[in-house]
Amino acid sequence: MTQTADPREFNLIPGHISEFASSIKALHGVDANMCFQCRKCSSGCPLTEFMDMTPVQVIHAVRLGLKDEVLNTNTYWLCVACGTCTARCPQETGLLKVMDALANIAIREGIQPKEPDIAAFYKSGLFIIKNFGMMYETGVAGLLSLKTGNLGRDAALGIRMLKKGKLEVFPHFQNSREMKRLFKKVAKKERELAQS
Ligand code: SF4
Ligand code: SF4
Repeated sequence: MTQTADPREFNLIPGHISEFASSIKALHGVDANMCFQCRKCSSGCPLTEFMDMTPVQVIHAVRLGLKDEVLNTNTYWLCVACGTCTARCPQETGLLKVMDALANIAIREGIQPKEPDIAAFYKSGLFIIKNFGMMYETGVAGLLSLKTGNLGRDAALGIRMLKKGKLEVFPHFQNSREMKRLFKKVAKKERELAQS
């Protein structure tokens, strides 16, 4: 067997790493080749029954370079970032980072999300944080309702929550300029990494 740099590495095909796995390793620091398919990640994940691919299947697909297959699943959209898979992994593969990486790649490459409402929720949240410098739940809820076409249905719930003081009517602005600068910086860094 080929000698590998890290003794924990488990090469399914000695010396082989798919282009897709290599790019995720370079951009997000996760080495799919570390996985030895023990399935502890999947057995701890609270959402596997709803996922097109379980977490262990995702990391295996990444390793094999099945980019289209894995990017066209709902798995990484359903991931709630609880971190259980990462905490349970004896190989410290950082599966949660893979889920993040897949969502980033899918957005960058214009792949239609399998869970459009969840994607719309993330985009609404990021828009609000970027422009207000902090979370503003009423703004996220409003934007999300517009994006998903559920304004009528959500309005009644929103009004009830406002009356109970669970939502704030007006936003606060906090370091919004700084936050916009930060978003720009991250976008630039991502472009540079994607081109390198
Ligand atoms: S827990 Fe880690 S090593 Fe085990 S299957 Fe999941 S990713 Fe692979
Ligand atoms: S972080 Fe995501 S994939 Fe991992 S266990 Fe939690 S929901 Fe499942």
